[in-house]
Amino acid sequence: MIGDRAHALLSASGANKWLNCTPSARLEETFQDTQSEYAAEGSLAHEVAELKLRKYFLEPIGPRKFNNQIKKFKENPLWDDEILKHTDVYLEYVQSIAHQYNSSPYVAVEKKILYDMYVPEGFGTGDCILIGGNTLYVIDFKYGKGVPVPAEDNSQMKLYALGAYAEYSFLYNIETIKLVIIQPRLNNISEYELSAADLLEWGESIKPIAEKAFKGEGEFISGDHCRFCRAKSLCRARTEFNISLEEFNQMKPPLISNEEVGQILERAQNLAKWVKDLEEYALSACLQGEIIPGWKAVEGRGSRQYTDIDVAFEDLKSEGIDEALLYERKPLTVPALEKVLGKKQYRELLEGKGHVKSEPGKPTLARESDKRESITNKVTPEEAFKNE
Ligand code: SF4
Repeated sequence: MIGDRAHALLSASGANKWLNCTPSARLEETFQDTQSEYAAEGSLAHEVAELKLRKYFLEPIGPRKFNNQIKKFKENPLWDDEILKHTDVYLEYVQSIAHQYNSSPYVAVEKKILYDMYVPEGFGTGDCILIGGNTLYVIDFKYGKGVPVPAEDNSQMKLYALGAYAEYSFLYNIETIKLVIIQPRLNNISEYELSAADLLEWGESIKPIAEKAFKGEGEFISGDHCRFCRAKSLCRARTEFNISLEEFNQMKPPLISNEEVGQILERAQNLAKWVKDLEEYALSACLQGEIIPGWKAVEGRGSRQYTDIDVAFEDLKSEGIDEALLYERKPLTVPALEKVLGKKQYRELLEGKGHVKSEPGKPTLARESDKRESITNKVTPEEAFKNE
């Protein structure tokens, strides 16, 4: 089960980090590996997903046994009924792939994958491996809802694919690799295809980098990958990168250019994340009795709660307080009502009857990589001419 997953020093999920900053893996070893509540929630969802895939593809489980297992999962304090819905999206996707083939494809679930022929002591656990025809699918279920994770050129997925290819290419003629990330809470199903030859070439290209990373050698390189590094708060390379303003000091004109605005905004995003990491670190250090000069931990603003809301309200009513004063009646927002009604009823009863109008959102700044089309208020010469 996924909750018991062991991790390699050069883990596949951390590959983006150690490929970009080779000494990071050894530095991270000096920090405790703590699991967040989000990760624990993800582990629970993975266990449900695994059960569903096993039931469908590998070991038919009767309804009673299946329901008992689900009942056990529901005892977990992190349980949310949404897990059932989201794991169905994953199951349905894998089923749809399997149904494309005339004969049943090979399916492995929660498969230990060794990629140590490319990365020293490299191993991991793949959520689902499917081989149909000449195609090897590496399918990853992600329960996070922070940012959508793309399958395109994803190092974690490529490492799993390398390991799976090494294991199965003796039995199957694998020519194409499909990497798939299913992140149902963000409606993200991301697919990426590459040839087996390209995958193997990539594997060869990372061998020397992985060797360095295993030995803890190379240069500390700060970047977006620092977000997931256990050393992120105290890392000197990240600190120096964030506080160095050298390139901006060298720029002479009194007004900064648009190019510099872009660069500064880019830096500011990293800076904001870094400051937040430092604050979290400093708070936990202060709470442990360490000294962070100039700072201390204090009690935050408290909150008041009803000891028993039903008893309290009954008491208020018996004292003559009007019930209308105790509750507020608020209409649901359109997206919330759509969730309650379901898409079909929402379309019939609201959109279909013209009760919903769409307003464009306020212009907002986004990264160039954002999928939305860019907008402008600038009037083109043709438009200006038309309006004259
Ligand atoms: S915080 Fe960034 S620069 Fe520092 S070790 Fe980790 S990945 Fe490397």
